[in-house]
Amino acid sequence: MENIASLTIAQVKEGLRAKNFSAVELTREALRFAESENAKTNAYLTFSPELAEAAAVAVDAKIARGEHTGLLGGVPVAVKDVLSTKGVRTTCGSRMLEKYVPAYDATAVAKLKASGAIILGKANCDEFAMGSSNENSAFGPVRNPVALDRVPGGSSGGSAAVVSQGTAVVSLGSDTGGSIRQPASFCGVVGVTPTYGRVSRYGLVAFASSLDHVGPFARTVSDAALVLEAIAGRDELDATSAFAPVDDYQTEMRKPVKGMKIGIPKEYFEGLEAETGDKIHAGLDVLRKLGCEIKEVSLPHTPYAISCYYIICTAEASSNLARYDGVRYTARAEAATLTEMYAKTRGEFFGMECKRRIMLGTYVLSHGYYDAYYLKAQKVRTLIAGDFSNALHEVDALVAPVSPFPAFKIGEKMADPMQMYLSDIYTITGDLAGIPCMSVPCGNTTQGLPVGMQIFSGHFRESTMFRVAYAFEQAGGVA
Ligand code: GLN
Repeated sequence: MENIASLTIAQVKEGLRAKNFSAVELTREALRFAESENAKTNAYLTFSPELAEAAAVAVDAKIARGEHTGLLGGVPVAVKDVLSTKGVRTTCGSRMLEKYVPAYDATAVAKLKASGAIILGKANCDEFAMGSSNENSAFGPVRNPVALDRVPGGSSGGSAAVVSQGTAVVSLGSDTGGSIRQPASFCGVVGVTPTYGRVSRYGLVAFASSLDHVGPFARTVSDAALVLEAIAGRDELDATSAFAPVDDYQTEMRKPVKGMKIGIPKEYFEGLEAETGDKIHAGLDVLRKLGCEIKEVSLPHTPYAISCYYIICTAEASSNLARYDGVRYTARAEAATLTEMYAKTRGEFFGMECKRRIMLGTYVLSHGYYDAYYLKAQKVRTLIAGDFSNALHEVDALVAPVSPFPAFKIGEKMADPMQMYLSDIYTITGDLAGIPCMSVPCGNTTQGLPVGMQIFSGHFRESTMFRVAYAFEQAGGVA
């Protein structure tokens, strides 16, 4: 069998077609490899071998009958543990849901299955997707496969790590403030946050509903685009999912980029580490050589993004997390009265970061503060989105760093939540505006740590973003 750790979707399909391996053989080998490698990174929380085997049997049967196996036929994937998987434990990285087994699939998961993907298991993450380093998981941190003493980023740290480590070909994550792009950049893989509404949120355990996005991780731009194609589209079960048709990304992204206008937002080049900045500038040189016209633009409301995000996301989180009360499907602490039971359950089974956000969110929504904080933040959000609309009037896409620094050491930022929150300074704006954005590998620092280049485009113009990323990758990226 080919080197399983570096397979692409096209190679899986070719291997199946040429009968180099069957889907069942590939699945067994992928699971064996993933289970043995997992001790190094703790990237998987749960494996689902029975389900994977059954899906592989179905793919082999289709091949035997000469039928199409689907966009992702036979491809081993991992799913972030905030997406509901029928019959497979879904913990959200929390003790609160340690034993929760959903009765239904998230739409993105159902679509993966319908396109023939083989789900190997569930990927570790920060508790309820709150964090930037995966250190807030109740089940231990994930280690970055590129440098095991460092974080993989977060909150989708497990999903990024498995693709980087080669224990899945592709994976799904979720992004509320950067949780796909930042771990993708830290682990040296491609990560895509689609337009808000492009992928259904049905079955994605809610953190901040107006900001939550489901999206793919992959080792190549083409693979990421294929996964997005498989999971995108209108879904009756999510009223915010969009009717806009899904483009043919594979065709669109191959169009040349010569003559395209790329904006560099000047606010995103302040306060970042020098080496990270150098890599992004080298990336811009590659685009320039490909014939792109690069010009500086301004997103003037950027300095308010962190405050705006942490008011909106905590407000929404405090409401969404109210359902974990010990009465229904969560863990329950025993107590003499109902009120005591609520308090003890939430006190015992939520981690520190969740509690911090519930308290902050409850405060900003409370009587007398709602207008001063929440409403004000919503207005600022509109201004931030307006900055992007104005800039994307002048240029086709924007290019910026993903994070001001590469992967940091495990434990380094845990004592200072403000420092941790600053990791997302360049990513939260994309979520606030609801536009598509992605991270594509852009070389390594002298210490060998990956740097990610971020690309933004207009609402539902994922094709434009993929076109830039694909041309950049095909040109060899940055060494
Ligand atoms: N790191 C950010 C936070 O802690 C973003 C998380 C996310 O995108 N889910 O909220």
